Amino acid sequence: MKAIRILHIEDDERDACLVAAELEKAAIVFTQTLVSTRAEFMASLEESIPDIIFSDHSLPAFNSLEALKIVQEKGIQVPFILVSGNTSQEFAVSAIKAGAGDYILKDALQRLPAAVQSSLEQYDGNVKGLKIQQEKQAIELAAREEINKLAARLQLATSGSGIGIWDWDMATDQLTWDAGMYQLYNTTSGQFGSVYEAWLMCLHPEDKERIENEIHLAINGEKEYNTEFRVIWGDGSFHYIKAGGTVERDNEGNAIRMTGINWDISVHKKEEHHLKLLESVITNTTDSVMITEAEPFDKNGHRIVYVNEAFTIMTGYTLAEIAGKTPKILQGPKSDMEALKRLGESIKKWEPCEITIINYKKNGEEFWINFSISPVADEKGWFTHWISIEKDITQRKNEELQKMLIAEISRLFGGTETLNELLQDVLTRLVTFADIDMGEIWLIAKDRQRINRVAAYSSSNELQHFYSKGCGVKSFAKGECLPGIAWEKKTMQFCQELCGEKNIEGLDDAKKTGLQTMYGLPIIYNDEVIGTFVLGINKKEKIAAHLTGLFENLGLHMGAEIKRKQVEQELNQIIRFAPDLVCIVGLNGYFLKINPAGCDLLQYTEAELKAVPLIDFIHPDDKARTNDSIQQIRESQVNYYTENRYITQSGDTKWIAWTSSRIQEEELIFAVGKDITDRKLSEIHLKELNKTLQKQARELAESNADLEQFAYVASHDLQEPLRMVTSFLTLIDKKYSAVIDDTGKQYIHYAVDGANRMRQIILDLLEFSRVGRKEDSQAAIDLNEMVNDIRILFRKQIQDKSAVILADSLPVIYTYKTTIRQVFQNLIGNALKYTRKDIPAVIGITATETELEWQFAISDNGIGVSRQYFDKIFLIFQRLHTREAYAGTGMGLAITKKIIESRGGKIWLQSEEGCGSTFYFTLRKPG
Ligand code: ADP
Repeated sequence: MKAIRILHIEDDERDACLVAAELEKAAIVFTQTLVSTRAEFMASLEESIPDIIFSDHSLPAFNSLEALKIVQEKGIQVPFILVSGNTSQEFAVSAIKAGAGDYILKDALQRLPAAVQSSLEQYDGNVKGLKIQQEKQAIELAAREEINKLAARLQLATSGSGIGIWDWDMATDQLTWDAGMYQLYNTTSGQFGSVYEAWLMCLHPEDKERIENEIHLAINGEKEYNTEFRVIWGDGSFHYIKAGGTVERDNEGNAIRMTGINWDISVHKKEEHHLKLLESVITNTTDSVMITEAEPFDKNGHRIVYVNEAFTIMTGYTLAEIAGKTPKILQGPKSDMEALKRLGESIKKWEPCEITIINYKKNGEEFWINFSISPVADEKGWFTHWISIEKDITQRKNEELQKMLIAEISRLFGGTETLNELLQDVLTRLVTFADIDMGEIWLIAKDRQRINRVAAYSSSNELQHFYSKGCGVKSFAKGECLPGIAWEKKTMQFCQELCGEKNIEGLDDAKKTGLQTMYGLPIIYNDEVIGTFVLGINKKEKIAAHLTGLFENLGLHMGAEIKRKQVEQELNQIIRFAPDLVCIVGLNGYFLKINPAGCDLLQYTEAELKAVPLIDFIHPDDKARTNDSIQQIRESQVNYYTENRYITQSGDTKWIAWTSSRIQEEELIFAVGKDITDRKLSEIHLKELNKTLQKQARELAESNADLEQFAYVASHDLQEPLRMVTSFLTLIDKKYSAVIDDTGKQYIHYAVDGANRMRQIILDLLEFSRVGRKEDSQAAIDLNEMVNDIRILFRKQIQDKSAVILADSLPVIYTYKTTIRQVFQNLIGNALKYTRKDIPAVIGITATETELEWQFAISDNGIGVSRQYFDKIFLIFQRLHTREAYAGTGMGLAITKKIIESRGGKIWLQSEEGCGSTFYFTLRKPG
């Protein structure tokens, strides 16, 4: 094949090499003569006419137009192809018009071989069609010029912007990329195959088939090529690419090339994904979202542009209904103006804001809404919208308000008012809170026979007037009217047909005042109804469910409070009227409460007593002990008893006996004090008296002992001289009987007799003084045996007086053997002695038993004793008769009495002169 001779006007050798390389690549055989000046060009033409001329446009000392002119002037018929950089686009057009055969950008040299071929073909023997060809080329060139111009502009605009431009020559399957394309595919011209298949290989396998199809459709003219796909880089990462292109067709409409662009939309995709996510959040969130325009802003607010589904569910308004309106549509009489003002101020300053207010649903229902609004800016940073996230917090708000209400009610119950006063306050608060027209509280009487109205409140003038006149039935039986029915049924009662057939008796008054709907709700304590709330409204509609719920809750809550208050009132009543001191003391040692009896006792007011520590009122000597007591009460919970002295305001000392106990949960001491001043004083007095008595008793015992000692010594020591007197008188009588006359003998007899009597007296006295001193042991004694012994002892007297001793079957007793025998002996002896001469003596002995003692009676039918001597006969040496009439010393009964009394018994008699006597005595049983 003949080599194509190329004359190449080019001053840059590298460009010349690139051109040569491109031609070689296309297997074109050629020679290349390089010229860079006009002279060289002229010289070369002189030397030989080339087959084709390539020309760079602008050289330092030459240019393509000049070259073209020279060629035309010389009439040389060879193709003239402009091979130039992209800055000479406009010039290229004029060059083509001037007669240049083609125009190749240096950036698109791959097109050069094809251009060379076609130019040569056209020139080769086709001189006829040359003109047509030239025209056609001019048109094509103009079109390409336009494309290139655009492409160049695009490239200019897109250089560095992530956009790549491609060109696919279908005939040669040459795919030409600009630098941007290589960047997008993260490859180089060396690595990339520059054919259609090579490009397909870069696509994500999942996208490949779809894209091939789309290319196919574009080529067929069925659909514009405008698509997205993913490109896989060498490192395995994939990138979203947006692609578009146009198909170039020949005269027959066959697609011959496609040109287009690619750009990376990964960031955009991410944002899109992100946006989708956000959109789905906004659409699906349970919080309501409302978007308003930022401008214009009139007094009603901004125009609504969007609300989500949650908003529609919350308010009842759909987007269609509310779009274009302002949020004012949601507000109403109860919306907090202050909060809205605050919101308006934030909006003016473009600041986010959060408020909670009452709004109104489409159906007019109120609800609590919490919303926060934030301004939204566009890409330029201008605020264009407000976005508002809204929550229906009615339930939370109601719960919050109800909690506050219940706390407030509890506070009222904790106050000092009476139950009825505070129920009136509670009711007023409730009616205002619930925004109803009327409320009443009814309580069941203690005997549970009737239910009585204790509080009534109405917000309407008519009803207020009605109550103030004292109107309305104030008491019902169980089952009667609303209060009674709620009591009986134990559940909430609802009554709307006040004027209808189902009229509840007793509601006539309510009707008169215009009430149309009424409720009766039981107040319950311990599963038992203790009262009823009655609520009324002037409209024929129901009270909001959460409010009736509130009253039901209150019915349970207040039941306990009312009961507690009732008990407290009753207790207060008891404490108020208690005659004793009742008080509550804090663990800090101050009186917290003290009843009137306490104040009266201590002569201070309650305020005075509460002002200082109670220890200040205590007697100085008792302070330390009282402090100890308080400490002990603090530490234990059992009842604690103590006594101490208080000093009253007037300075008197009051003894108080306290019973105190600590209430663990409340850290309080409850105490009841009794004024024991009188008892305490008499106790002290008694103690002193006791002391005196004990002293006297001691002194008496001492003197008695002395006396007894004296009697004993005297009687004992007198025996001896007396015996001497008697002995010597007896000696005188015997020895000198011859010299003593009868009178003398008689005197001696009297003296001896006197001495004998004196001896007997001394013996009796000795016996008397021994009583109580003698050791005597106790033993079981059979009194029957003892009486028999005494019978034997007195057998002579019994015989002489023909006496009988009648003794019942007497008991066996455990007692002092010797001394008790002496008692029986003395009494039986007297009965035998003081007999009447005219009748035989009859003596009776009986015994009777009681729980603690034995009582014995020894009776006779003797001479008796006159009542006036009943005491005298028990004294020592006291007798009622002369020695001549009845022998004796008058000591017997004195000794007997002393024995009986020393054993804890008593002795007495019943007698009448001449009619016998009965002597009684008692003996304590042992133990
Ligand atoms: P005495 O018998 O030695 O005189 P008592 O002390 O036994 O002394 O009695 C005192 C007096 O009580 C007696 O003198 C007597 O007058 C009177 N008396 C005692 N017992 C009886 C009796 N059973 N009947 C009548 N008089 C009695």
